[in-house]
Amino acid sequence: MLRPTAFSAAGRFWRGNLHTHSTRSDGVLPPAEVCRRYRAEGYDFLALTDHFVGCYDYPIVDTLPFRAEGFTTILGAELHSGAMANGELWHILAVGLPADFAPSDSPDFHPKPGQETAQELAARAVAAGAFVAIAHPQWSGLTLADARAVTAAHAVEIYNHGCAMGCDRPDGAAIADLLLTEGRRLTMIATDDAHFHEPDHFGGWVMVKAPESTPEALLAALKAGEFYSSQGPELRDIRLHDDRIEVDSSAVAAMIVQGQGTAARAVHGSSMTTSEMDLSRFGTSPWLRVTLMDAAGKKAWSNPIWR
Ligand SMILES: [Zn+2]
Ligand SMILES: [Zn+2]
Repeated sequence: MLRPTAFSAAGRFWRGNLHTHSTRSDGVLPPAEVCRRYRAEGYDFLALTDHFVGCYDYPIVDTLPFRAEGFTTILGAELHSGAMANGELWHILAVGLPADFAPSDSPDFHPKPGQETAQELAARAVAAGAFVAIAHPQWSGLTLADARAVTAAHAVEIYNHGCAMGCDRPDGAAIADLLLTEGRRLTMIATDDAHFHEPDHFGGWVMVKAPESTPEALLAALKAGEFYSSQGPELRDIRLHDDRIEVDSSAVAAMIVQGQGTAARAVHGSSMTTSEMDLSRFGTSPWLRVTLMDAAGKKAWSNPIWR
C-alpha cells in the first residue's frame, strides 16, 4: 500500500496562496492590506509575487512586517523573461526568493532580444532557493514545447482563479498531464493570482503539510510535493493499493482518477467521505492523480502519485 507523503508525513496542513499582486506592480491594494485580507480570511500564509519587471522597479516586496501570530509570509515574485512560441513574454512564479535576487533584463512586458530565456531565469530562481511554477498555461497560450523547455520548474498551476474569473482560462491540467506522460515529475498548484480588481481572490489555494508554518518548513514541503490544491474540498488521505484506491475527504459528490493517455474514471455519489475505485482501467500508467468535486462543483486536486 502506498500513501503519498503529504498524508503520511508529520505535521498538519497549512492553507496558503502562492500567487498575489499588490500596488508594487499592477494590483489594486497595498501590500499591508493584501496581507491583512488573507490573514482575516483564515489563511496561514501568503506569498506576495509582484511582477519582477523594470517598469515596477523589480519588486521583491518585504512582507516581513505583515507577519503575525498564526500568519506568515514567503518572499516571492512573478518572473518574466524570454518569449513564448506566440511571441509574448513568459510568466514564471517563484516563491521563496531572496530579497536581493538579481534583476533579469526585463524592462516591461515585452520580450527583449538577448535577455535570459525562461529556463535560465527559472533555473536561477531554483538555485536561489525558490519553489518555481509555470504560471497560468492556458491564459498564456503556452505550447507543450514552451512548457517542456522550462525543466527547472517544480510545478504547474493546475488552476488560476484570476484567469477563471477574468477570462475563463484557468486550466493547467491539460499541459501538465502531457508533461507527466513524458515522465516529468511535476506537482500541481492552485493559486489566486489576485489583483483585487475583480473577484479573483480566495478561490484557489494549496494545503501544505509541514510540522510548523515557518517559511522554511513550508518551502521544503512545497518542493517535496507534500501538499494538495483546493477550491474548497479537504483531501485527508490517499491509500493506493495494487488494484484499487481509497480516498478520505470532506463530503464530495465525485472522485475522479486520471492517468496516462485516456486513462480516467469517476465514481459519483452523495456526501462521500471515503471513496473507493477499482484501478483495472489504469493498466500500467506510471502515475495517477485524484480530483475531488463537491456538490457545488468545487474541486480539490492531489499531486501526481508515481507507482
Ligand atoms: Zn502572470
Ligand atoms: Zn500573476
